[in-house]
Amino acid sequence: MTATPLPGSPQLHYRGDALFLEEVALADLARRYGTPLFVYSRAAMLSALAAYQRGFAGRKARIHYALKANSSLAVLQVFARAGCGFDIVSGGELERALAAGAKGPDIIFSGVGKTRREMRRALEVGIRCFNVESEPELEVLSAVATELGVRAPVSLRVNPDVDPKTHPYISTGLKGNKFGIAHQDAQRAYRHAAALPGLRVVGIDCHIGSQITQVAPYLDALDRVLDLVDAIEQAGIPLAHIDFGGGLGIVYHGEEPPAADALWQQLLARLDARGYGGRELLIEPGRSLVGNAGVCLTEVLYLKPGEQKNFCIVDAAMNDLPRPAMYEAYHQIVPLRPQAGPAATYDVVGPVCESGDWIGRDRALAARPGDWLAVLSAGAYCMSMASNYNTRGRAAEVLVNGAEVHLIREREDFADQVRREKLLP
Ligand SMILES: *Cc1c(COP(=O)(O)O)cnc(C)c1O
Repeated sequence: MTATPLPGSPQLHYRGDALFLEEVALADLARRYGTPLFVYSRAAMLSALAAYQRGFAGRKARIHYALKANSSLAVLQVFARAGCGFDIVSGGELERALAAGAKGPDIIFSGVGKTRREMRRALEVGIRCFNVESEPELEVLSAVATELGVRAPVSLRVNPDVDPKTHPYISTGLKGNKFGIAHQDAQRAYRHAAALPGLRVVGIDCHIGSQITQVAPYLDALDRVLDLVDAIEQAGIPLAHIDFGGGLGIVYHGEEPPAADALWQQLLARLDARGYGGRELLIEPGRSLVGNAGVCLTEVLYLKPGEQKNFCIVDAAMNDLPRPAMYEAYHQIVPLRPQAGPAATYDVVGPVCESGDWIGRDRALAARPGDWLAVLSAGAYCMSMASNYNTRGRAAEVLVNGAEVHLIREREDFADQVRREKLLP
């Protein structure tokens, strides 16, 4: 069908003239479960994970899946059963990780705005580490831990101030960014942490951004972090682990990100060269484990030719697929069956009442109403960011495993949406 391999291949492929994910024809799923529908390949997730596992073979390393990328319980189960820990950013994500089978020591807790209540719960279940992002947070965490009669394991998220060369909304390791502790303040913050009674310093972490497709920013960040490790340990504060965050990019539209094992080959060589090869390593990949493992199926509702643009109006919208509206992101859009007839150029848009509700611009399609399309690379930061805007129920989700099909989330109905609301007397 298409000359270049589809993002998500080999699990995503045309067989004859039908688009398949693993052994399942996607049109069968659209017919059975309706649209919009997210479909994920278990094999694609495990193969993305395997690239990291190969990269870390023989090392002391643990992969903590950053579950904000896709936090559906069955997706978490796939990673928990494959031996992953989790990186969480809220109390809700803590409960999700536990519900999927993780235990406290499998969990690390990131994020700039942890509440006392979230800290307490995380201490009660005995999480492995708090990735602390400011000195005031250190004080609060120490106080909460002291009340509970425990010491909180902490790492400080340092800001290496390198440009990850990605979209400004998803670059997090630069000065002038809300995340992390500035490189020049890090040593003072570590002395502060070591002096607080409710804390136990266990590591250092960084996370420079997301959808990173080059190796150089990672190598720069690693050097900057290791400079700090040298200085902090010389000051008498040992760091048992180094957590290098997530951020590796995926293929949306011809990007060529390094494979996880190739990236880590270079990073491990640098760690070895600087004498840190035997140190315990943690990483927090999100997008790169799930992004190319999922698609969103949608039905063409109407074709609306216009003077300046033609619109292809589909039943998925910005509440299901928020990335184009948020970051002007690109998702490839392909038909579930090759379409007969000449293609025209369309903006593919949803039904939501916002001009920002678009899914793809200037796409050549020979679509007709009733046809199904697949929005590709939709496994990460789609369902987990979905909303009910315009009182649209969130989509259903299906996980395929070979020829097996598991409905992992039912489509949200009106009653689900208004369950917590109260009418006036
Ligand atoms: C979002 C996030 C991640 C995961 O980022 P990806 O780009 O999805 O790999 C990892 N660590 C932290 C602290 C994050 O905020």
